[in-house]
Amino acid sequence: ARAMQAALEREWTAVPVIGGEHIDGATTPSIDPTDIRRVVGTVVPATESDVDRALEVSTQAQPDWDRTPPAERAEILERAAALFEERGAELMALAVREAGKSIPDAVSELREAVDFLRYYAAGAREQFGNPQRLPGPTGESNTLSLHGRGVFLCISPWNFPLAIFTGQIAAALAAGNSVLAKPAEQTSLIAAHAVRLMHEAGVPGDVLNFLPGRGSLIGPRATADPRIAGVAFTGSTDTAWRINRSLAARDAQIASLIAETGGQNAMIVDSSALPEQVVLDVVASAFRSAGQRCSALRVLFLQRDIAPRVLELLAGYMDELIVGDPALMSTDIGPVIDMKSREALEAHAEAIAARGKLIYRCRLNGAPGHGSFFAPMAVEIDALDWLEGEVFGPVLHVIRYRARDLDNVIESINATGFGLTLGVQSRIDSGARAIGRKANVGNVYVNRNMIGAVVGVQPFGGCGLSGTGPKAGGPHYLHRFATERTLTINTAAVGGNATLLSLAPD
Ligand code: NAP
Repeated sequence: ARAMQAALEREWTAVPVIGGEHIDGATTPSIDPTDIRRVVGTVVPATESDVDRALEVSTQAQPDWDRTPPAERAEILERAAALFEERGAELMALAVREAGKSIPDAVSELREAVDFLRYYAAGAREQFGNPQRLPGPTGESNTLSLHGRGVFLCISPWNFPLAIFTGQIAAALAAGNSVLAKPAEQTSLIAAHAVRLMHEAGVPGDVLNFLPGRGSLIGPRATADPRIAGVAFTGSTDTAWRINRSLAARDAQIASLIAETGGQNAMIVDSSALPEQVVLDVVASAFRSAGQRCSALRVLFLQRDIAPRVLELLAGYMDELIVGDPALMSTDIGPVIDMKSREALEAHAEAIAARGKLIYRCRLNGAPGHGSFFAPMAVEIDALDWLEGEVFGPVLHVIRYRARDLDNVIESINATGFGLTLGVQSRIDSGARAIGRKANVGNVYVNRNMIGAVVGVQPFGGCGLSGTGPKAGGPHYLHRFATERTLTINTAAVGGNATLLSLAPD
């Protein structure tokens, strides 16, 4: 707690780091969403020439990094994981101050980042360190090996400013790529600290380059460049489309694009579900992290028969939630990321409450007066098509359905085109599994909340408009960062096939 307090009082900085060199320039402040008068630190935004320089050094550095034995790359990532743990208080303090994360969320954020580092380190050893022997005729050996593709651009959002930022970079590095890392503007300081620790752990400065600043400047400049071999992006679907178009317009190597984007996540609750459990899981899924998780619950489909009881319990629970300073252990829900986001949410809240029926709106009972706080709300609506897209905050939309309309409910969810997470609450196992099978989504959660995927346990990612796959924290992720090579040798050419001699007789 003392280390966190000291970190909270420190002035942090984020500057472009290119080839290990720290670049000076005009600064902009990074603001605390809990109190927008408070400056957490300063950021020097990268310029277009910084992007060009980073491309130059990372292109030169990549082949050596790729030739570094995968086990050595893994050791460096594991050292970074240990450093993240050692300096965890600082990273958590930054997650609280810069991103408005509550303390439990900051702990999860740190844990996920560390898990990504260790998981991809293990992947580098297992998948990149052991070329696979393939079958072939006698007199021939065949092996398949994985290598880095080149320079990867990693672009992350502010809602998991440490975990996703680190996860993308760790995967790209593990696979033998060099990296240009671009954090979200709102959360450059925590990203800068993560990069500091990764460099301290031994990632070479020219292999990991850091470019804080405007996405609309850095993104187009880098993605138009023929030297970019791949992009790992997490953020909105609109930005993913922009990146995809920019990469496609190049007459250059066809880049790999790993995009993890938004969702229109639903939970289906049938009449056999346990109302008390439903309410606990709904509140965690819809409101934890102020609803600013890509996996967060947006639309709750409640079977009519149990709706009155569930909604009564829901309103009661919402009345108990404390919305306030995320640095306090008593706080359940912190601020949304900035005033712009709060204004957009308030506009939606007003419009949807006027059209639908307000179930409950939390009080801003612990919120400091100068923060970007938004009171979580639950509102009943008639149909899913009332929503035009993802509402990225603590607004829960509730729709009642009749048991006989269940298939239509699933179809309407599929028709949104998104496919990220789905919750199901039912005590009829076969029914829950059937819903899971019919829904086109990447992650289905039955009788539990639908957030907080654990690395290596619930590999995470969506389909359709929600992402390109494969899943972060899953066994196939590193492959998308890799290129494959085969090596075929005619072993008979050096005087026969020696392996035949050592074959045991039957
Ligand atoms: P966003 O506006 O798309 O921003 C994400 C990142 O893209 C930021 O670093 C941003 O930089 C950068 N960017 C902006 N314009 C760009 C361009 N033209 N080219 C390249 N990069 C550009 O998304 P957001 O609103 O911050 O993040 C929330 C979204 O992320 C939600 O839709 C959420 O569902 C999604 N998300 C998905 C997952 C998942 O795993 N599926 C996880 C977390 C979040 P600036 O900050 O400088 O604008």
